[in-house]
Amino acid sequence: MINAKGKVFVLTGPSGVGKGTIVSEVLKKVDNIYLSISATTRQKREGENEGVHYFFKTKEEFNRMIKSDEFLEHAEFAGDSYGSPKFSINNYLSCGKDVLLEIEVQGAKQVKEKCTDAILIFLAPPSFEALEERLIKRNTESIDKVKVRLKKAKEEMQEVNLFHYLVINDNLNEAIDNVISIIKAERCKIK
Ligand code: 5GP
Repeated sequence: MINAKGKVFVLTGPSGVGKGTIVSEVLKKVDNIYLSISATTRQKREGENEGVHYFFKTKEEFNRMIKSDEFLEHAEFAGDSYGSPKFSINNYLSCGKDVLLEIEVQGAKQVKEKCTDAILIFLAPPSFEALEERLIKRNTESIDKVKVRLKKAKEEMQEVNLFHYLVINDNLNEAIDNVISIIKAERCKIK
């Protein structure tokens, strides 16, 4: 990363664990931290907006972005591609702003390798059953796609030891407080 003055925080963990909810609370409650808007080839869901939730891309556009090295990280997830564009991340960092990435585990591992200072937080469900219930209730995917996400979640849960912090999303307010505390503590850390 060029002239990285801000810090990179990564919130990772299985789909449906509540990363999005926690991210939106963190952005409301913590100053000087900005969300990296990802690019994806996934279909836009009802209520999602271009450039707010994602930059929605065709497969061809996404592949072109990979070829021209526009991503800090990118990964395939449940049949679609997701990636964090470098451009806005570098802009925030070079202005001394912190950046928050909300991404799945393969991408988080790439960030860990490329940005050795990045702080990686793994958000886990209290149980696999709770995650299953949440994904079904969320009703954003077909049952077949929910099954794919649950299978992926089992694999992702095996990788928790690769990250710096573990937050269990049992009580939402506590999980939000814990993520905020991690950000605040990291900002006070003496190198
Ligand atoms: P969804 O389709 O539910 O919006 O996202 C599916 C998964 O992809 C979630 O775990 C989400 O955190 C992750 N994701 C979103 N953006 C990115 C990204 O830019 N890179 C990676 N690696 N994962 C992402």
